[in-house]
Amino acid sequence: MTSVHSPTVRFAPSPTGRLHIGNARPALFNWLFALKHHGRFILRYDDTDKERSTAAFAEAIAADLGWLGIHPHAEYAQSARTALYDAAADTLRRMGRLYPCYESPDELDRRRKRQLARGLPPIYDRAALKLTAEERAGFEAEGRRPHWRFLLESRQVVWSDLVRGEAHVDCGSLSDPVLIRGDGAYLYTLPSVVDDIDMGITHVIRGEDHVTNTAVQIQIIEALGGTLPVFAHHNLLTTASGEGLSKRLGHLSLASLRDAGVEPLAVAALAVLVGSADAVRPVESLQELAQLVDLAHVSRAPAKFDEAELSHLSARTLHQMSYQAAAPRLAQLGVDGGEAFWLAVRGNLSSFGEAKDWWTVVNGPTAPVIADQAFASAAIAALPDGPLDAASWKTWTEAIKASTGAKGKALFMPLRLALTGREHGPELAPLLPMIGRDRVLARLAGNVA
Ligand code: GLU
Repeated sequence: MTSVHSPTVRFAPSPTGRLHIGNARPALFNWLFALKHHGRFILRYDDTDKERSTAAFAEAIAADLGWLGIHPHAEYAQSARTALYDAAADTLRRMGRLYPCYESPDELDRRRKRQLARGLPPIYDRAALKLTAEERAGFEAEGRRPHWRFLLESRQVVWSDLVRGEAHVDCGSLSDPVLIRGDGAYLYTLPSVVDDIDMGITHVIRGEDHVTNTAVQIQIIEALGGTLPVFAHHNLLTTASGEGLSKRLGHLSLASLRDAGVEPLAVAALAVLVGSADAVRPVESLQELAQLVDLAHVSRAPAKFDEAELSHLSARTLHQMSYQAAAPRLAQLGVDGGEAFWLAVRGNLSSFGEAKDWWTVVNGPTAPVIADQAFASAAIAALPDGPLDAASWKTWTEAIKASTGAKGKALFMPLRLALTGREHGPELAPLLPMIGRDRVLARLAGNVA
């Protein structure tokens, strides 16, 4: 592929709900594309649907993107840009490409049913184009307000799609799309095209549910004299059983994944690598992920989302996380064990928050579990003198083994229970010096320390 010079991409959500892992995918594909090619990423709220869009959803979307590590270079709301859409609509009207229609939804529905009954495709018949000025005036006098359709050219629209290769849509089999509703509101298509032109969008990367829209949009861009962007349509995410992920799938919202302790880098990696030719694997940064993602490797089959795979990837993301990446988050949790602590516990975490629990084990207060006080007393007696260090664990356990005869699980489990209060956890050798002599002795004596 030829190299791309400073692309500008956009993510254009409708602020009518929260982001979930499915609709976060176009955001990620766009952000990673911008990262990889040193481009710009625009967040554009497609909020022309006044009844369903809210400022609260817009803010929540920005916050959810921030959690993923997506920080847009610019933000726009379509509701503030109506003047541009009006100007474009006027241009199209003057060219005869935007025409008024007076049919009611019921009339359109009856017509469609008649067409279907006759075995014809249910395409808008362009009856409105044949209306005389008098007929139009008559409708207006009845109080009807027109909706406006874009006059499609009946031809194949072809483009070279970064995911799908050569793509074509026969516009002869499509109805002229309604761009403006009877109440004057713009539907998605025209504002999207006008903004893509105005914002200099070079690459439109979005789900394959937009393939047909793309053909229509290409015709509108050409009519308006805009430069065509490059298009890429990625596959859609389905549940493991193949159903679409709806906006209402609350527990897969980014907010609930975050609250459940899932790592944002795991969400990002799974979102863009699932259903691609590249294996899903943990990454240390979005930069690293950006280098792994290749739109040409995205499968055309639906990508199946598996929650268990996400939990697993999230844990693996923590297990390899560098101290540098973890440090600010440890500080937020009030954990100041430094790099040694992080390296000792990270391999045991299934969520980042558990680091705090292990910090309490190291730093107290932790309640020991002592099943056999005689064994604990032998352990106290065997503790090496002087400061505890990385070698102390080995020296100590060998001494206990020698004095009590305990070995294997009978040696290690009572020590683990006494020192941590738990049956499972990180290796104790590096934790021992961090817990420190005083707490070790206190816990072995059965005290909370
Ligand atoms: N608001 C549209 C959507 O959410 C944007 C599609 C596009 O990227 O053009 O699907």
